[in-house]
Amino acid sequence: MKALKYYGPGSIRVVDTPVPSVKNGEILVAVVACGVCATDVKTFLRGHPKILPGSGLGHEISGVIAEAPGSDLWKKGMRVVVAPYVPCGSCFQCSQERYSLCSHLFDEILDPGGFSELVRVPPRLAAQGVLPLPTAVNPLAGCFGEPVACCLHAFSSIGVEAGDSLFIIGDGVMGLLQAEIGKLLRADPVILSGMTSERMALAFGVADVVIDAAKEDVLATVLRATGGEGADKVIVSVADIGAAGMAVAAVRKGGAINLFAGMPADAKLALDMNRIHYDEILLTGSFGFAPEDFHAAIDLISRGKLDVMRLVTSSVPLAETARALEKLTRQEGVKTIVLCGGDR
Ligand SMILES: [Zn+2]
Ligand SMILES: [Zn+2]
Repeated sequence: MKALKYYGPGSIRVVDTPVPSVKNGEILVAVVACGVCATDVKTFLRGHPKILPGSGLGHEISGVIAEAPGSDLWKKGMRVVVAPYVPCGSCFQCSQERYSLCSHLFDEILDPGGFSELVRVPPRLAAQGVLPLPTAVNPLAGCFGEPVACCLHAFSSIGVEAGDSLFIIGDGVMGLLQAEIGKLLRADPVILSGMTSERMALAFGVADVVIDAAKEDVLATVLRATGGEGADKVIVSVADIGAAGMAVAAVRKGGAINLFAGMPADAKLALDMNRIHYDEILLTGSFGFAPEDFHAAIDLISRGKLDVMRLVTSSVPLAETARALEKLTRQEGVKTIVLCGGDR
């Protein structure tokens, strides 16, 4: 079978590799489509501490069952989405229901990775991380399960509720998804700031206020849109320390900030400590998702509550993944989906 392998920054190739063999309790999934994530682009660009040369890439998988030995539930040809990880359920963090902090989150991973014709899903992941995708749903939409789940996890960390003013900093895929989720939860107004005209165009008609950070005074616009109070909830969805500083300035007294984007390794923020103290600002981070977020994400996508397909600006065959990643490093396009051809 064909699979993409990562050999170091700037070096990825589609190679021939043996089809993984699956034991009872494991599942072999024929990958129809796998979304390209910012993590894949970052890994391609400058490497990743946890992704070793020779590994596969890709974790936003939509496919069909190829083999499910010993399973009463899964039959060949059933359409599924696959989560990239599930928690162990028995460590300290799991006992606190902080599943995205599970000490064993990455003990089981997809073999070799989503950018592959076939992928082996190990037992724990096969038991808990594989969900059916209704036939009426575009398989490419299934690739949004993981990114939407991460957004839902961030929303719950700051408790976004109906009527909250919500300010999203960043016009990437995640910021745009968050604007749509904010509207779904009836946040009002939803304000989004960005810098890329192609991406901001997708925010118009979703967010109530779209701010061009390159041309407008972002803070003044947020204050104007929130009656001078600042936003109840702020999500930082761009890996820029200046955006985190903006969040602290633009949040309302008693409001909450979620640092969603992973920052560069050496990023340090000089905080106005009195803002945090006197104005009782809640500053949170969020990473990944819990199983319930993944289930909720697939439910929203399956019921057509989120229009994720409008974010797909290109879909490419597996052989062209490297070129697609290069384009994304130049911020061309919004969401790219790789068609892996496993269902042929
Ligand atoms: Zn992802
Ligand atoms: Zn655990």
